[in-house]
Amino acid sequence: MENDLLTGKKILIVEDDFSSKLYLNKILEKANVIILNAGDGQEAVDVAFNNPDIDVILMDIQLPIMDGYAATKNIREFRKNIIIIAQTAYGFLADKEKILNSGFNDYIIKPILTQNLIEKLNTNLRRAKQPK
Ligand SMILES: [Mg+2]
Repeated sequence: MENDLLTGKKILIVEDDFSSKLYLNKILEKANVIILNAGDGQEAVDVAFNNPDIDVILMDIQLPIMDGYAATKNIREFRKNIIIIAQTAYGFLADKEKILNSGFNDYIIKPILTQNLIEKLNTNLRRAKQPK
């Protein structure tokens, strides 16, 4: 696995489901990532606001208090360039388009496999490093 880009990166996991949250934490711990967690959309906005050095946000769509779309829209107001990846259980084309038109950089479909997540993160970090 290609983990060099991931080492030391700060990633915010936004997930309201306890076992999914534990699973993602376990994968990213092994990749030597610095992990922050939020359990709803409002908490995600607050954590993003208070931690300007976050590199990537893994944003669940269905969240209590504020959903992933609204949270991402909020975060984009003060973090134009942060990588935000949607995690969604829905693989339908309409949802993909909605996600990509809602301020997310990318999406990953649940259930999330370790290899897919690592590749998705590396791809987006590599893309972010390239000069615009
Ligand atoms: Mg959820």
